Formats: sequence, structure tokens, C-alpha cells
Amino acid sequence: MNVTLLEIIDNSFHYEMENLCRVFFPHDEIKVIKGKGDCDGDKITAALVKNEDGTKVIASATLSGREYSCEFPMDIEDEKEQERLMAVALFRILTEATGYTPAWGILTGVRPSKLMITLINEYGRQGAYDYFTDKLLVSDSKTRLAMNVADAEERIIRSSSPASFSLYIGIPFCPTRCSYCSFVSHSIETPGAKRLVPDYVEKLCDEISLIGETARDLGLKLESVYFGGGTPTSLPAESIDRICSAVENSFDVRSSREYTVEAGRPDTITTERLDVLKRHGVTRISINPQTFNDDVLKNIGRAHSAQQAVDAYKLSRSMGFDNINMDLIAGLPGDTVESFMSSVDTAVELDPESITVHSLALKRSSRLVTGGERVEDGSRMSRMLEYNSDKLGQSGYFPYYMYRQSRSLGNMENVGWCRQGAECIYNVFMMEECHTVLACGAGSVTKLRAPYENHIERIFNFKYPYEYINRFQELIDRKQLIRDFYTAYKI
Ligand code: SF4
Repeated sequence: MNVTLLEIIDNSFHYEMENLCRVFFPHDEIKVIKGKGDCDGDKITAALVKNEDGTKVIASATLSGREYSCEFPMDIEDEKEQERLMAVALFRILTEATGYTPAWGILTGVRPSKLMITLINEYGRQGAYDYFTDKLLVSDSKTRLAMNVADAEERIIRSSSPASFSLYIGIPFCPTRCSYCSFVSHSIETPGAKRLVPDYVEKLCDEISLIGETARDLGLKLESVYFGGGTPTSLPAESIDRICSAVENSFDVRSSREYTVEAGRPDTITTERLDVLKRHGVTRISINPQTFNDDVLKNIGRAHSAQQAVDAYKLSRSMGFDNINMDLIAGLPGDTVESFMSSVDTAVELDPESITVHSLALKRSSRLVTGGERVEDGSRMSRMLEYNSDKLGQSGYFPYYMYRQSRSLGNMENVGWCRQGAECIYNVFMMEECHTVLACGAGSVTKLRAPYENHIERIFNFKYPYEYINRFQELIDRKQLIRDFYTAYKI
């Protein structure tokens, strides 16, 4: 792995500068040091210089033996503005050195649409547009994407009331582990994980019942239910039945606006499991092929074929599921622009109500990174996502939610596209943190959003199933915070 040294001199902008360097050099190790360092190889310097002539930001680099430099004078002592200008200077030299212009400019944050909403409120639509393109160097098409998503999210955010909440149920088991996965998810095929399932289901049902009682006592109103993970449908049908029954007995599910189960892996979707979901009133499921290229599926460690994804989709349709999402990922190892385009075409032909397109993220804990496999670079990612936007836009889908993960290739986005009226409201509520999410299960995080205030508190459940089972009482004690929180805020 190539190591690029990043020197940070007389400023505290190391986090942003490192993220920006990673956009240009996703496969390199970026070694950040404060002050000057010794290095014969590639080196980048981000310096804030103050002397009698004033203040200036300077970005310079020696990359593959060539020198680059860019500097801007500063006449204001605003740290945020200094950081922005430093990023612009760095962006300029790295663009020159690599010939690659990242479409999101210097914007490295997780929620571009949330920033867009803030800017629209502050400067109006044209002002927000100009801020994105002129100050953050975001391309015209990504700025329009952020604006479209901001509009769609605003509509959903407005529909949430102060006493409303969503329920999240976490199932940290999957059939096998995908090579790009960084979640805590256990392959249910291993004897150790399989043994945990009965106890896990029992504790989960206990937690659901306790959280239901709390929500009832506090007079909270359920808006949406979401089963995620992991792969919830990797559990046996009778376990899913038990968990769904616990949810039904503890919450007023029929009055919630949406009930999603992320079935996820096509190889777990069976008539028996779908029947359980249908009987319990699940309104939306997700079937995630990720790609329709069998070789790429093998590369990422998935034990199913593209045809199985198509079959799972058709089976779900035949059993009456009329709101289905499909996930695709751009940038998987071994995938090409053409093959990704063909996956998008196949998904559109199947005609699900929504298609969520993720950009591959190189998470440190994933096998993809630890195994050193090669993946698509940023500019090819751009071509994939541009095709996707055009194709989905022309096929009647519109973007309704968006987020970015750290270390995503090319700093690209994940976008939920859907047909009119098929937005997953949970995705927006959760991502924009506009209402409370009560979460049950290992690895899940309860987010308490204060009514009428922009204040969030989090309660973390234990990450691993065995901890969740063995320290269950500790976790239940923590959940008392929900009552304390709402009592303090008096809904
Ligand atoms: S299906 Fe999702 S959670 Fe499960 S191993 Fe793959 S990426 Fe991880």
C-alpha cells in the first residue's frame, strides 16, 4: 500500500484535510502528522501561515516527484472559513496532480441534503445553490441532486409530530459475510452464532415488550417500524413470527404508516418467511441483489446468484408485496461501468417501487480492505452514478433520501430513489434525526429527539449478540433514560 504523508502545520483542520486526501487516494494509507515530517515519497502539506503580511492558507504537495502549490490570503479570522479555503487550496492541487475532479468538491460531510436544507432556509434557493457550486465546488448535477433530495425530505420531515417515533429492530445475523461488510453481523451458518439465536430472540422479545410499555406510558405515537441488521430473514420463520408477534403485542402497529423488513439477501427469501411477514402486516420489504453480475456476487462472498434475486422478487410480488425496494452497489470489486449499468437496467425492468443505490465504502474492518482487493476508482464511480441518475430519472423514479459514508469511493453518495408515494419515511426520519427512534436488539442505537428542540440523546445497546444476552439487565436499566428524557421535556 502506498503511504502518503500529510503534514498539518499550525492549524486544526487535520480531519477535513485527511478526508479530502482520501477522496483522491482511496487506496493509499494517509499518514497524518502535526508539523513537518521526513519523507522521500509522496507528501502533502496543509499550512496556516500568520506573519506581518497577514494570514494565508497554503496547500503544497510533492506527488510522484512533481511539485504543486496553491495559496489564498485571508483577511478574516474565521476558523470555519480558514478551513474551507484550506480545503479549496488542497482540492486545487490534488485535482491538478491527479486529473480527477470529485463531483462533491470539498464537501465531505455525511448529509449533503441536510446542509442544503439549512442553506435554503438561510440564503434562499439561489443562494444555497451558489454556495454549493461556488464555495464548496460541488458540481451542478450533485447540487441539483442535493436540492431535489432536500425538497423530498422536507415534505417527510414536516409530517412528523413532536410525540411521534419510529421503532427499529436489529437482527445481527446474515447467511454469510459480504467482503465489504463492516457491521457486526454473524454468519448464521456458524455453529457459534446458530446457538445464540434462541436466546437472542427471547431477549429481543423481552426488550420489545419493555420498550412498548414505555412508549405507551409516555403517550408516544408510532409512525414506522423497521427491521434491519444484518439480514432479519436469515432467522428461521418461527423466530421471525415470534418477534413480529412481540412487536404486534407491544405496539399499535396497524396504525403506523409503514412497516419495513429488510429481507436483504435473496437466498433467505422463502414462501414460509414471506407468509409470516404478510400475516403480521409488513407493508414494505427490501430485496437486495447489490449487483446482477454472478461473478461480482462471488467476489463479494454472497452465496446467491442474480437469478435468485429475480426469483425472490417475483415470489414476493406473487404473494402480494406491493412495496419492494432493491439495493444496488456501485464500485464492487470486479464490476465494470458496463456491468453496473446492466444491473441498473435489470432492476428498472423488474420495476420495484424503490431502488437504493449505494457507493462502495472501503471500511477498515471489512475483508475488502484487510484483504487488499482492488476496487473501482472515483472517476469510474462518477460514470456509474451518472448513468444511474439518468436512467432512474427517465424511468419515473425520484431521489428522496441521501447520505454518504466515510471512505466511500470518490466520496460518492447513497441515494434512495422511489416512485411517487413509495418513499420510506423511516429512512428519512432516521437519517435526518427529526424524530425519536426507539431501537431494540444488539448493535442498535436509540436516538431520543427532544420535542420542539434540536437536541438528541443516544442510548447504545451492546454490540455483540452474546453481550446483549449476557448483560441484558444492564441494558434494560439504561433504557430507563427514555422515561427520564421525556419526563424532563414534557411532551
Ligand atoms: S448482508 Fe449486509 S449486514 Fe449482512 S454481511 Fe452483507 S453487508 Fe453485512
